[in-house]
Amino acid sequence: MTPDLMEAGARALAEHERKAPSVIAGAEPYFGQGVALYVDGITVSFDGFKALNDLHLTINVGELRCIIGPNGAGKTTMMDCITGKTRPDAGKVFFGSNIDLLRLKEPEIAQIGVGRKFQKPTVYEQLSVFENLELALKADRRARATLFSRLSGQQADRIAEVLLLIHLKDEAQRTAGLLSHGQKQWLEIGMLLMQDPKLLLLDEPVAGMTDEETERTAELFLSLEGQHSLVVVEHDMKFVDQLTEGRKTVTVLHEGSVLAEGLLSEVQANEKVVEVYLGR
Ligand code: ADP
Ligand code: MG
Repeated sequence: MTPDLMEAGARALAEHERKAPSVIAGAEPYFGQGVALYVDGITVSFDGFKALNDLHLTINVGELRCIIGPNGAGKTTMMDCITGKTRPDAGKVFFGSNIDLLRLKEPEIAQIGVGRKFQKPTVYEQLSVFENLELALKADRRARATLFSRLSGQQADRIAEVLLLIHLKDEAQRTAGLLSHGQKQWLEIGMLLMQDPKLLLLDEPVAGMTDEETERTAELFLSLEGQHSLVVVEHDMKFVDQLTEGRKTVTVLHEGSVLAEGLLSEVQANEKVVEVYLGR
């Protein structure tokens, strides 16, 4: 794209935002009350079947929360509601204490700081690991002006930092398509991190990983805790145990609602949880 085309694009965008101010224009999420995500009584029906049924969930700033529950419990649908992919029939979803996510569109929700990792890795296979991270950085709306410019020192530092975090420093120049399944998952997490999301939603992130990759993924998430809030949906109890460190809350979903919430040891001893999920 030529500079004058880019300029014309920027002008058109500014004009568009002047005419139809986006809901998020100027609105920054407020985390001063310690709440990162507040889900209040959401219900989702598919042809009369309730995939979510009056679901409540509060995630604190910097918290790492694991969500478990049988297949069909509504875990993915819950993430769809938070990210704007599915609109609930009832209930509220707030990011921070001021942003009503149900009024925002999917890309706006991503821009405002909610990152989502789907089950299947989606990286640019032909590009190098480094280029994938660079692209993710430049896709950030706050960096739009620099889309075709060289990386600033600060941006290069951020890429180096993320490469270390995701254990891919030595693979930076490698073509992403040649990475193992686990490494691709880490790269995709790294791409999310380039946008510095306040809240990260991770749907079965260690499915298909080796034991060693799973363990390293747990270490990665533990290192993100505090800086980001994380919601991790997972079936691997060893992984959940590693993440919760014997002291964090686990939420059990069943038939679209919270069946139990507490320490992993507590929910594992809960009769209802054993009956519908862990006892199988
Ligand atoms: P989980 O992720 O906990 O396994 P899901 O959220 O994927 O569960 O699904 C919850 C229930 O909603 C399941 O019974 C599923 O079949 C149903 N469901 C999910 N998405 C749709 C859809 N788009 N249309 C109809 N039913 C759906
Ligand atoms: Mg699912």
